[in-house]
Amino acid sequence: MARTRLLKKSTQKKLARTWGYILIPVIFWGWYTHYLGYGAIAILSAIATLFFLFQARVPCGALNRDGKTHCIHNGKGLLGGCNQVVAHKWYNAKMLVHRSTWGRFVSNAFRKFYGAAAFLAAMATVLSALISAGALVVATFAYLDPRAPK
Ligand SMILES: [Zn+2]
Repeated sequence: MARTRLLKKSTQKKLARTWGYILIPVIFWGWYTHYLGYGAIAILSAIATLFFLFQARVPCGALNRDGKTHCIHNGKGLLGGCNQVVAHKWYNAKMLVHRSTWGRFVSNAFRKFYGAAAFLAAMATVLSALISAGALVVATFAYLDPRAPK
């Protein structure tokens, strides 16, 4: 008897590039309701950040050999490039290394709607990760302080 697949292959592929967006409302909800602790928010934010940096669908945008046109394939995450051209694989990550190319890195991401969405989402999750990690540290020190009321 053939096993029935829960999801079609194409759907699975699509899901692999988009699942991280589900974390955004969860993180917002966590901040808003205080239902999740800072630790949980920090972990969720870190996972979401990694997703947007390395997995989300973002236009590759690498400069083609002619030096004028840009690669139209989709890359892996904000830092990665497409798989079609070997030189593009870490094209966007390399641009981040040099400060002078930061502007080009951003305009690359904003070339397509879903690239801009991934970029803004990454900014939000990085901020959320930093704030929640900071709050966690402050809360831990406050707890360890012997003068603090228990
Ligand atoms: Zn490319």
